[in-house]
Amino acid sequence: MRVGFGYDSHRLAEGRRLVLGGVEIPFEKGCVAHSDGDALIHALCDALLGAAGLSDIGSHFPDTDNQYKNIDSKILLAKVVELLDRKGLKINNVDVTIVIERPKMAPYHDMMIQTLASVMRIAPERLAIKAKTNEKLGFVGSGDGVVCFATCTLADPDEPMSRP
Ligand code: MG
Repeated sequence: MRVGFGYDSHRLAEGRRLVLGGVEIPFEKGCVAHSDGDALIHALCDALLGAAGLSDIGSHFPDTDNQYKNIDSKILLAKVVELLDRKGLKINNVDVTIVIERPKMAPYHDMMIQTLASVMRIAPERLAIKAKTNEKLGFVGSGDGVVCFATCTLADPDEPMSRP
């Protein structure tokens, strides 16, 4: 089994789309980013890549490359899953936390689970998404940004649990 961890944050500004977990959320602010700014998917990609020993999202999809400008992050996630497939790695489970002061994420939870499970081709019960506020503390608490954390485990069928 391999464990991965990922983190991402984005600034929130007026006049931008808010997309988290592959779901567009109506709100007065959205993420400032080169891509669609889906911090949840970016943290998730880093967790998956990290567990696979495949570096990070920035090295695979550089934000200096125009082909990734405003790209739907679900496409990046699908590409990451393809890289795992090529190494024979299977996603065992994924656990994500979103930290955002507003808006409430609860109405979008089920849609995020369905969307991401389908992109990763895993059963929805292998994926957990939690959301919380930052108790009005710091840049998240003031509504200036969003932070996401993701962990995952990957099953590596070729590798024994312990080595001689
Ligand atoms: Mg990002």
